This record gives sequence, structure tokens and C-alpha cells, in this order.
Amino acid sequence: MSVELESTLCVSAAECIKAAPGAFAQDENGIAHVTDPSAASDDALRLAEALCPAMAIRLVD
Ligand code: SF4
Repeated sequence: MSVELESTLCVSAAECIKAAPGAFAQDENGIAHVTDPSAASDDALRLAEALCPAMAIRLVD
């Protein structure tokens, strides 16, 4: 599963990082980016997508 993250939408809530540690990281401004989707389970990635308040995360099968 691949993960797309539209960083221009990110509001730095960090829900993605809590839901799927290792798959996402934040830069010094709190903006998230994808690091290694294989570091998290598909369920964790789906949770990150669901919890992101900015709907910035999209999973692609
Ligand atoms: S959960 Fe969404 S808004 Fe929050 S850091 Fe992750 S991508 Fe950004």
C-alpha cells in the first residue's frame, strides 16, 4: 500500500504519527511527510488516514 500526504493541507496535528509511528514524521515546522509506509501495518495507516483532521492522507492500494 502506498501513502500520499498533501503537506499543504497539514495542520500539524500529529495524529498520523501517533497512529502509525515510523510511517510519518514532522519537520521543524510540524508539517508531516511520509517516511516509510512499510514501517506500519495497513490498519495503522488506515487509522492515520481516518484521524487526520485535515484529510491530508490518502492511501492507494
Ligand atoms: S494527522 Fe494530518 S494534519 Fe496531523 S500531522 Fe498528520 S498529516 Fe498533518
